[in-house]
Amino acid sequence: MSEATRMPTERVVKWLDAFGTSLEQGDIAGATALFDADSYWRDLVSFTWNIKTIEGRDAIQAMLETTLNQVQPHAWRIEGEATEAGGVTESWFTFETRLARGKGHLRLKGDHCWTLLTTMIELKGYEEPHGRTRPRGVEHGIVPNRQIWLERKQQEEAELGYTKQPYVLIIGGGQGGIALGARLKRLNVPTIILEKHERPGDSWRKRYRSLCLHDPVWYDHLPYIPFPDHWPVFAPKDKIGDWLEMYTKVMELNYWTSTEAKSAHYDEATGEWEVVVERKGEQVVLRPKQLVLATGMSGVPNVPSIPGADKFKGVQHHSSKHPGGEEFRGKKCVVIGSNNSAHDICAALWEHGADVTMVQRSSTHIARSDTLMELALGGLYSEQAVANGITTDIADLIFASIPYKIMHEFQIPIYQEMARRDADFYEKLSAAGFMLDWGDDGSGLFMKYLRRGSGYYIDVGASQLIIDGKIKLKSGHDVAYLTEDAVVLTDGTELPADLVVYATGYGSMNGWAARLISQEVADKVGKCWGLGSDTTKDPGPWEGEQRNMWKPTRQEGLWFHGGNLHQSRHYSQFLALQLKARFEGLPTPVYGLAEVYHTA
Ligand SMILES: Cc1cc2nc3c(=O)[nH]c(=O)nc-3n(C[C@H](O)[C@H](O)[C@H](O)COP(=O)(O)OP(=O)(O)OC[C@H]3O[C@@H](n4cnc5c(N)ncnc54)[C@H](O)[C@@H]3O)c2cc1C
Repeated sequence: MSEATRMPTERVVKWLDAFGTSLEQGDIAGATALFDADSYWRDLVSFTWNIKTIEGRDAIQAMLETTLNQVQPHAWRIEGEATEAGGVTESWFTFETRLARGKGHLRLKGDHCWTLLTTMIELKGYEEPHGRTRPRGVEHGIVPNRQIWLERKQQEEAELGYTKQPYVLIIGGGQGGIALGARLKRLNVPTIILEKHERPGDSWRKRYRSLCLHDPVWYDHLPYIPFPDHWPVFAPKDKIGDWLEMYTKVMELNYWTSTEAKSAHYDEATGEWEVVVERKGEQVVLRPKQLVLATGMSGVPNVPSIPGADKFKGVQHHSSKHPGGEEFRGKKCVVIGSNNSAHDICAALWEHGADVTMVQRSSTHIARSDTLMELALGGLYSEQAVANGITTDIADLIFASIPYKIMHEFQIPIYQEMARRDADFYEKLSAAGFMLDWGDDGSGLFMKYLRRGSGYYIDVGASQLIIDGKIKLKSGHDVAYLTEDAVVLTDGTELPADLVVYATGYGSMNGWAARLISQEVADKVGKCWGLGSDTTKDPGPWEGEQRNMWKPTRQEGLWFHGGNLHQSRHYSQFLALQLKARFEGLPTPVYGLAEVYHTA
């Protein structure tokens, strides 16, 4: 051990020993005293059977008083060596509970804990087979009437959903449903994924023609099978579609294509859902114990109701229905909205020779892709990070270790640097009339994503078209009404239009529950997404985690899964473990089930 790491490592070992001993002795006051007055404990399922950040000593003490007897934590061991920078000592560690093994991350200020992350890795006795425990695959010897792998698979496919019920039903077979399905498969939990489209990956294929991922490859891996190392940094949508289709097949998921969930009802008495689905024209009723809506965070389109829309004679659609630019060569196109989809669609229309106007009602945060990659993601998700030994799992856990309450403090300097570096670009964009912002507190893109899931564009070229006046811009005004052939703004400006695109975003995922289950259940579980930061479109009170995502909701047996590829990969682990524990009948007392303050 080098001299630079000896002292921090000793400090961490001492802290973990004291913490472990206090917990084993039931000395909650002693354990709590090891935390700083300003401290955060983020738990992913291992103590709380919830996804929860506990803030401050009093809250930590209250959590331990409820959970300690049941959890029985022990075997706290440092993993690797600790490091120290800027007065903060950081380290990885492992630990065990009565039911599970976990991995965590610790930050000390002096001798006291500032941030603690505890995550469940696996349930004891229910570990995923891998490496030395992988199945042999072949049964040597002579076996009369042997059933080969293909026959076993076909039998499972024929039975599940008909003569045998799945324990988990996932509605929605985008990357979210697929990643969760893969984890549940490895955990041997009978699961069906329903997808209304014809092929896995169609939710990407059917988006507008020019779409490429906005996030780079290092951020996008699915669980278990990383992209090969020649995979493009920004994968085109159809390529991602094909990858998802391949993944679904090789991970042997029970994936029902061309199948739409029509309605779902929870029977309190039996603790079972009754889900009516239409599979290739045939009605099937499924009775799972657990229902996961993986129907897409960007799923329920927000379409504004604009006076005169019924009289408009041209083409009008929400951005999710926009096919691409080629049909609109030479046409007058008005795109309402100024976030990612609006920019991508405007650029594609312009590329195809359309006359394009973007209508910007309120300010938007713009981050240039290259700058964002370097400043915001590069440390954890980049070729350099890989070279530094930061695997995807490690990167995900480092990211998870920063409590949401203070995450903006880490983000603000990144965006200050971005503003400085790209000052010339932002000046030109403002001069073109574009209304810019950096988030309510200057914390930029990622906090906007977590708080409201909207309000930004990762610039891959459309901003220059706005600067050059090639995409025309009308900013600061709302749409007043539509005529037969024009969009009229509140200042009276009339924009002749053959096409109107509503790039007006998406509603909360509990809208899916309203459609499929009932408005009552949608209201009972409340809004999905957002942290309660009391910033624009993320009303308080403070919740400290993404509302309703990947964790128990106020509706028994109902779960929400989704988010970007990173979140789907990372949080599917914790949702799968919660479902597996219930499947095996293990006790899963939920600590701190969130209150509902907003219904949409
Ligand atoms: C234009 C655009 C660009 C984006 N770029 C990125 C990016 O670069 N990186 C990134 O990580 N994310 C990106 N996102 C976010 C993106 O929405 C998600 O990453 C991804 O689509 C989420 O996957 P999902 O599985 O949660 O939802 P979806 O991909 O939306 O999948 C949900 C699925 O549910 C199905 N479904 C819905 N209702 C039913 C029903 N009743 N029965 C059966 N099936 C049903 C749908 O057909 C759909 O296939 C982008 C989103 C948009 C709109």
